[in-house]
Amino acid sequence: MAKIQVKNLYKIFGPKPHRVFPLLEKGLSKEEILEKTGHTIAVNNASFSVEKGEIFVVMGLSGSGKSTLVRCINRLIEPTRGQIIVDEDEVTGADMEKLREIRRHKIGMVFQHFALFPHRTVLENVEYGLEVQGVPEEERREQSLKALVQVGLEEWASYNPGDLSGGMQQRVGLARALATDPDILLMDEAFSALDPLIRRDMQNELLDLQAKLHKTIVFITHDLDEALRMGDRIAIMKDGQIVQTGSPEEILSEPANDYVANFVRDVNKLKVLKAEDVMIRPDALIHAQDGPR
Ligand code: ADP
Repeated sequence: MAKIQVKNLYKIFGPKPHRVFPLLEKGLSKEEILEKTGHTIAVNNASFSVEKGEIFVVMGLSGSGKSTLVRCINRLIEPTRGQIIVDEDEVTGADMEKLREIRRHKIGMVFQHFALFPHRTVLENVEYGLEVQGVPEEERREQSLKALVQVGLEEWASYNPGDLSGGMQQRVGLARALATDPDILLMDEAFSALDPLIRRDMQNELLDLQAKLHKTIVFITHDLDEALRMGDRIAIMKDGQIVQTGSPEEILSEPANDYVANFVRDVNKLKVLKAEDVMIRPDALIHAQDGPR
């Protein structure tokens, strides 16, 4: 059984979201519904499942609904309609106590801007999730130090986040999510605020960690390169809908529609250029400078 199952999920923002369904059934577009009723359809009938131990990337342009979709998984955002199941537990419809249990023990979240407390030390930041869970101090410390070792920051435990670079702060954010040892990590544009080289380092670190920890990761990005690099499978979102789900190879070689084809065209072009670079011979370059023959 898949680790996460999302079935026919909708999230509609506005005062009377259920009034939107008949309009959707009539075939009105998202824009028409927004204009007529003031409701935004952020997630529109999304279905997918995430297998245990895979990195499942949700990729799409800004505003396509990625963040809303992923936040519905632990009900940080309340879905309007649809079903979400984590392991055997139905998240949608769970009472508050059950929901708290799922959030605390199964799911860790990593945000784009780290969301660290500036006046707590690195270690105290990592301990936060365990503190909320009421884990005793000694155990808290032990688990947090272990998480800091996992991200290579054990020597920075007593510093404040402000003393650390952006990449290091993001590693603290990751350690905080790892400290509670969740099976699932939800990562919302976690590396998007980082400089390209540091971002690349973080991607590599996460892939190395994943090879050891085998978490189930839902990874949001608006960057196709990052999606192709990180994803075992990728879901591409457009206007709240998932327009294709597949492995990076499938997305590149068999785009399901023009929208995805446009997305991948530049990447494919680059691949061809790189291949030509490798094959190019010095005499060919001389001829090229002479102009067409
Ligand atoms: P992404 O993560 O792909 O950038 P979001 O999930 O943040 O997209 O947003 C999807 C759509 O939902 C956007 O049109 C956005 O303006 C809208 N939206 C997000 N949150 C809210 C909210 N709290 N209230 C109203 N509309 C929202």
